[in-house]
Amino acid sequence: MALANGRSYLAIPGPSVIPDQVLQAMHRASPNIYEGELHEITASLVDDLKLIARTKANVAMYIGNGHAAWEASLANVLSRGDRVLVLATGSFCKGWGEVARGLGAEVQTIDFGDDAPVDLARVAEALAADTDHRIKAVLAVHVDTATSIKNDIAGIRAALDAAEHPALLMADCVASFACDEFQMDKWGVDVMVTACQKGLMTPAAMAYVFFNEKADAARGDCVTGYWDWRPRVDPDVYYQYWYGTAPTHQVYGQRIALNMIRDEGLKAVWDRHASLAQAIWAAFDVWSTEGPLRLNVADPAHRSHAVTSCVIGAPDGDRLREWCEHRAGLTLGIGLGRTPPDAYFRIGHMGHVNAHMIMGVLGTIEAGLRALGIPHGKGALDAAAAVIAQDA
Ligand SMILES: *Cc1c(COP(=O)(O)O)cnc(C)c1O
Repeated sequence: MALANGRSYLAIPGPSVIPDQVLQAMHRASPNIYEGELHEITASLVDDLKLIARTKANVAMYIGNGHAAWEASLANVLSRGDRVLVLATGSFCKGWGEVARGLGAEVQTIDFGDDAPVDLARVAEALAADTDHRIKAVLAVHVDTATSIKNDIAGIRAALDAAEHPALLMADCVASFACDEFQMDKWGVDVMVTACQKGLMTPAAMAYVFFNEKADAARGDCVTGYWDWRPRVDPDVYYQYWYGTAPTHQVYGQRIALNMIRDEGLKAVWDRHASLAQAIWAAFDVWSTEGPLRLNVADPAHRSHAVTSCVIGAPDGDRLREWCEHRAGLTLGIGLGRTPPDAYFRIGHMGHVNAHMIMGVLGTIEAGLRALGIPHGKGALDAAAAVIAQDA
């Protein structure tokens, strides 16, 4: 018997759960794109996005997903032949590097593996070795969604400053935005990219690229009309915000999602994600006392609060995911970018998630482990409930 009917839960690291209020705001006739409220709403998104990024810098909006944000960010600062330093802690920063290569950049990669954060000493070495300052930009992912490693972005800035290296610091916050604390200005980030379908709780279609004056001044020869961020941050006409037709319904949805973040308070949003992540980690601490299950990232300081990568051994990653989806209505994330992929699964806990949803995820995983005969320590749900009881 399957027990999957009822409201399903997509617990993958993006797209995330879309709040009903957001969906309802999008369920409407197409608005006039030449005048009226769509213009005011679009302008209002800019202010709220900057508040969440903790920045006074600019934000350019694009119709696109995270990959579009990657290309937009690089196209504005690179010239063909420039070198970028990719700090890889999973497949996402490597993917950003591939976009740079596609634009004609020379890509230097330091691969820190799939279960450890960026090692700042090795970054310092690479910067010191670059005596003629060939590296134009350092690319780092705040939270790598494949491995759930969270990197110390402020530490990378400190390494750049200590080396007196002029490279731009570029951060990918697609997975962490509005989930994990991030401070663009305080941490000295020159360019930051994110998108609307994860912590921002809106169906995919809008990409956001934040940049400061230093990044704008770096402008190279890769920039083309569509990706140029300048008209998008200082639009003479509404049309320039989006360089064409606005993503009308997403704009309405994003407005409501941002209202929800504003009403809860950004600090409270960060704290909620932290607490729910700790409940997940507490369950894994117990499960991992027996059998194969464990968290991918050992050090809690380097674990994301928005996505958790779990090691289970092949082929149980796929078996567990299939059981949870088809028997219980819970969709978990695949072992993206890992070898073999079915030795891993991921839990997305970004955006519109609360305590009962996380207890539901953990309880469903526990039922799946039992049903499939996968050994695991007993008492994981108690441990998670204790965290929630204490924090809520
Ligand atoms: C999801 C994600 C991306 C890519 O976003 P798409 O919308 O799938 O193109 C890039 N970087 C990180 C860290 C992500 O989590």
